[in-house]
Amino acid sequence: MSNKQDKSNHYQEAIELIKALANINSHSYNLDGIAQVSLKIQAEYQKRFKNIQIEEIELPDQISVDDNGQELKIPLGKALRIKRINANAGAKPILLMGHMDTVFPIDSKFQTCKEINDNILNGPGVADLKGGLVVMMQALEEFEASAHAGKIAWQVFLNPDEEIGSPGSQTLFKDLASNNDLALIYEPGLEDGSIAYRRKGAGNFKLIARGKAAHVGRAFNEGASAILAVSDFIQAANKLNSESIIINFGKIEGGGPLNVVPDLASLGINIRIENNEDMVTVENQLNKIIDKIKQTENIKLELHGKFNRKPKIPDSRLEELYDLIASCAKELNIPISKKDTGGCCDGNNLYEHGLVNIDTLGVRGGKIHSAEEFVCLDSIEERVDLSLAILTRLANTQ
Ligand SMILES: [Zn+2]
Repeated sequence: MSNKQDKSNHYQEAIELIKALANINSHSYNLDGIAQVSLKIQAEYQKRFKNIQIEEIELPDQISVDDNGQELKIPLGKALRIKRINANAGAKPILLMGHMDTVFPIDSKFQTCKEINDNILNGPGVADLKGGLVVMMQALEEFEASAHAGKIAWQVFLNPDEEIGSPGSQTLFKDLASNNDLALIYEPGLEDGSIAYRRKGAGNFKLIARGKAAHVGRAFNEGASAILAVSDFIQAANKLNSESIIINFGKIEGGGPLNVVPDLASLGINIRIENNEDMVTVENQLNKIIDKIKQTENIKLELHGKFNRKPKIPDSRLEELYDLIASCAKELNIPISKKDTGGCCDGNNLYEHGLVNIDTLGVRGGKIHSAEEFVCLDSIEERVDLSLAILTRLANTQ
């Protein structure tokens, strides 16, 4: 049997599987699509592995507020856990993580894959993170076929809600962190192969402003405009933007008939911070701004939301893991380097719970979260080889 032929068939299969997964819409709120992706992955693991246990895990509803300030409970899909059972005594527990959801809504125009050229495949979630799901599985399959099988008590955890900040699956992170030595996460690497290192923290917030309605012609001065209150808030809060703090006012809703002073408005805000002190500073400053605006007669403001991802600030354990990965990459002649990023992911949350992790071990790709998202197909084999080398190294070090 030609080994090379065998390998290339294997990669053709991997590409077909990425396409099949990406052609299923699995937006975070498309629970049917998430379930389909989950079933497909379960079938693939069942086909390829013997010593595994598969478990679907129900998640609590996402709690949020709508534009009227009313509490919303949004159901989420099920998480998927696949555990290697019957590993050797003393085998190292290692978590491999990824997500099944994408940012593309069920009614998005971007639903299927398109081959741009021999090496570039465009499609929803091909890099973020369906390519990574395939890389992870194939690396585990090759590891289990190697002489080192059983030396790692691995578990795969795939969540259905990463793209909306993991509101449901976060409840499981503390346990995942305490039951594992480290995590390998399969978010896409950058196009040049670099790996995300320091990450900013982030949170989504919603400001609800309530005022007093009044007829513009007859009683304008009796009204209190909720839209003006939101505008005052934006002007003041925008001044907090700095080198290390990003505040984006992403969505605004409110008002109604143009001859009525608006009594309701809402504002969606995304905030990113570089360190934990900034997190406290921003929250204090926003509350001060709100307190000041609330002194206006008949104006009420409420700020909902929180920082759901703390910044990932490298420490010596992260450096050690990165060095191990860089040394595996060097042996394989795979170019790798580290880059700081303003983006964040579940790696931030696991890190906060004390679980050291490298979170961009998936395929190389780019333009994620847009209709131009692509995966570099030559990175599949490269990244499988890298993960296999990492697992092998981890299996044989203390
Ligand atoms: Zn992702």
